Amino acid sequence: MSITLTFLGTSCSTPTPERNLSSMALVYRGHTILFDTPEGVQQQLMRTGHSLVKINHIFISHFHGDHTLGLSGMLATMTTLERKTDLHVYGPRGIGEFVSLSVRVADFFPSFTIIPHELHEGMILDEKEYSISAVKLNHSCMCYGFFFEAESKAGEFQRTQALKLKIPEGPLWGKLQKGETIMHAGKKFTPGMVMDYSKAAEGTRIAYIMDTFPHANYVDALKQFNPHALIHEASFLESEKERAIEVKHSTAKMAGEVATHTQVKQLILTHFSPRYPNGKDMAKEAGSVFKPVTAAHDLMKIEFPEKQPREREKNKPLRKKNSTKK
Ligand SMILES: [Zn+2]
Ligand SMILES: [Zn+2]
Repeated sequence: MSITLTFLGTSCSTPTPERNLSSMALVYRGHTILFDTPEGVQQQLMRTGHSLVKINHIFISHFHGDHTLGLSGMLATMTTLERKTDLHVYGPRGIGEFVSLSVRVADFFPSFTIIPHELHEGMILDEKEYSISAVKLNHSCMCYGFFFEAESKAGEFQRTQALKLKIPEGPLWGKLQKGETIMHAGKKFTPGMVMDYSKAAEGTRIAYIMDTFPHANYVDALKQFNPHALIHEASFLESEKERAIEVKHSTAKMAGEVATHTQVKQLILTHFSPRYPNGKDMAKEAGSVFKPVTAAHDLMKIEFPEKQPREREKNKPLRKKNSTKK
């Protein structure tokens, strides 16, 4: 099993003949999660073999048009396709009104229920197989970054050991697997007595950081989240640093510095100003402070294993990294 990221667009502000506006699809165990919905996103999804009907969760980082103006058309197409499943749309405060407006301007009646969710910092979506939390970024309007974390494997339950200790099969086994200490026949049993934690594996962690000038708030959260892959906007090169500061965006070097501070394993740059036709320049500049770095291009796919070997605290139960702030 793997996690596949597809870069549906990599431009900022306006599309170019080579680049659509920035958005990304994440596919994991049959779930398709969409991050941002710029104009043109429907065709990019179709070109890369994603079904609109399979998308159940859409995360909108902020309301700037280069991240949102495709939502209306996408909802209209889902209705044409007679979608029936609920669709969850997450966005900053005002997302409910934005969704209603998106339906009104296209003048249709959705064939399905659209459930808007206002974002806040902390855990947003806590499913059995994965979770997504949000963190505030530092842009000219309220903008959120997202942390995706695949399910971890707590370790391996040693059945023979449990039977040897005369712990009966049933709910008590489940409790031990969840990390609870139990009492049975007047004796205390700890999870460590039946769990092999050396077999534990961490779920892959991916951070999606769109429009922002670097800021301690999200950099600290990234450090704690410790992602295996960081997707970070890089609107400009350092030669346009003043402009980056003015409009609250990052340069490629700044994205590289964020990656260095947070010790991520891999940096992927996206959201490039149309003034830079060649992503290699962005990768080269970020690469002067952090490696490995990749400049994304439209329709680029990257696969990650869904689990990663544990690096620290090998003999302790795993904890979720995602649920710090509320
Ligand atoms: Zn943008
Ligand atoms: Zn923006």
